Amino acid sequence: MSAQPRLIRMDPRDNVAVVANDGGLAEGTEVDGLVLAETVPQAHKVALTALAAGDAVVRYGTVIGRAACPIPAGGWIRETNLNMPSPPVLSELRLPQPSPTDVAPLEGHTFQGFRNRDGTVGTRNILAITNTVQCVSGVVAHAVDRIRREILPRFSNVDDVVSLEHTYGCGVAIDAPGAAVPIRTLRNIARNPNLSGSTMVVSLGCEKLQPTRLFPEMLNGSDDWGVDPADSNDVVTLQDETHTGFEAMITSILASAERHLAALNTRQRETCPVSDLVVGLQCGGSDALSGVTANPALGIAADMIVRAGGTVMFSEVTEVRDGIDKLVARAATPDVARDLIREMEWYDSYLEAGRSDRSANTTPGNKKGGLSNIAEKAMGSISKSGSMPIAGVVPAGERATRKGLLFAATPASDFICGTLQLAAGMNVHVFTTGRGTPYGLAAVPVVKVVTRTDLARRWHDLVDIDAGRIISADRTLEAMGQEMFDTILAVASGEKTCAERLGLTNQLALFNPGPVT
Ligand code: CA
Repeated sequence: MSAQPRLIRMDPRDNVAVVANDGGLAEGTEVDGLVLAETVPQAHKVALTALAAGDAVVRYGTVIGRAACPIPAGGWIRETNLNMPSPPVLSELRLPQPSPTDVAPLEGHTFQGFRNRDGTVGTRNILAITNTVQCVSGVVAHAVDRIRREILPRFSNVDDVVSLEHTYGCGVAIDAPGAAVPIRTLRNIARNPNLSGSTMVVSLGCEKLQPTRLFPEMLNGSDDWGVDPADSNDVVTLQDETHTGFEAMITSILASAERHLAALNTRQRETCPVSDLVVGLQCGGSDALSGVTANPALGIAADMIVRAGGTVMFSEVTEVRDGIDKLVARAATPDVARDLIREMEWYDSYLEAGRSDRSANTTPGNKKGGLSNIAEKAMGSISKSGSMPIAGVVPAGERATRKGLLFAATPASDFICGTLQLAAGMNVHVFTTGRGTPYGLAAVPVVKVVTRTDLARRWHDLVDIDAGRIISADRTLEAMGQEMFDTILAVASGEKTCAERLGLTNQLALFNPGPVT
């Protein structure tokens, strides 16, 4: 780390810059022709010119708020002296003109994946057991523990056995319109490419979410519901009269698992084009460097994946809402723009019904890390989507049906976003963080990227990529983006992430806009 005081400005139009130095800069420090009027922590904003009350504060070339009081040149801009702007008015957004998309293809890159019968490709070879209702989760957890110890070691080609545990399935208004979201989320997670179309089902018996409701295709004998056709009646029902006692239930689940594992064990990785990758992006525990280092570099990697024919999903409605005008302008067609606006409208009314608004997004950690408000956070969040046209929108819980850069509409909550991206079909997850989070998912490898080198040092065995080197080692955004692209391909081919090596996984968290009973 160079000891030279350093400020980073994101856009020539900006009248603020953020402090790059570890530990911040002290009052009186001279930097870029300014003298700091007060001590400013790392990643926090410094006024580059004197601002009068009401003057626009511009970062990323965008107004992120207005000065609440006079701020001298070299002054520290933070939540208390910055008034938040209003979000763009959805009904006033101009739709883009249809235009031919001019994307330079990127060729010559492949990864080693497990090809599935439905044409998707897994980056892991995992047996999943879906639960139709939370009541069975204790039994399934017990069974999974025994499968891992007693059966899995005989099937070395299989990466893991996981329970798709959740809190849905009964005690809910299952016919309410909002119920469609958690139900289709569970259905589509069972079909995630990493689960190889071989997901087992454990049902209680009396629950509202009957297996045939979760997988309506079962009723017409179709095998297109994520379960091996040879086992299409392979649902273990705990209340089944053949089960006398707990051990009988476990024996049923273990017998079914053994058949599935034997089939999964015959699969081999094969060379696959990057067009088979579905990479889900999100951030959590963001700071002001998220939008300076990790997210813009990830945007470069995202562009490379899209140019190579792959799919990239970005999400987190409340984090893009304030920059929706910029996303609408990038929509590949007017229909995609309308889909984006529809998802924003839905979420605006969802928040309104809860007597809240998008400002509920920012956390105390965000603010301590230098992000004054959601308008500023949005610009940093959006930068990870890169620069490609937005080719489609995936509603919450739906499966992505096309390739390219997609907006998967999800809340920003890390676990709900990850769960919905699993349903959308992601086979690699990239997660950027400034404050640090040990986040991991059982069904998909999570590549964790940190925004700052001091965190990478402290969390040396928890994070995969240190994007802070853009500041601490003068690495270019392009070199960092290339490294992320290479890492994504290596992880897709089987290289383990830190979270996988440590066995860190967070539970699924369904998005349920419907009522519980
Ligand atoms: Ca998040």
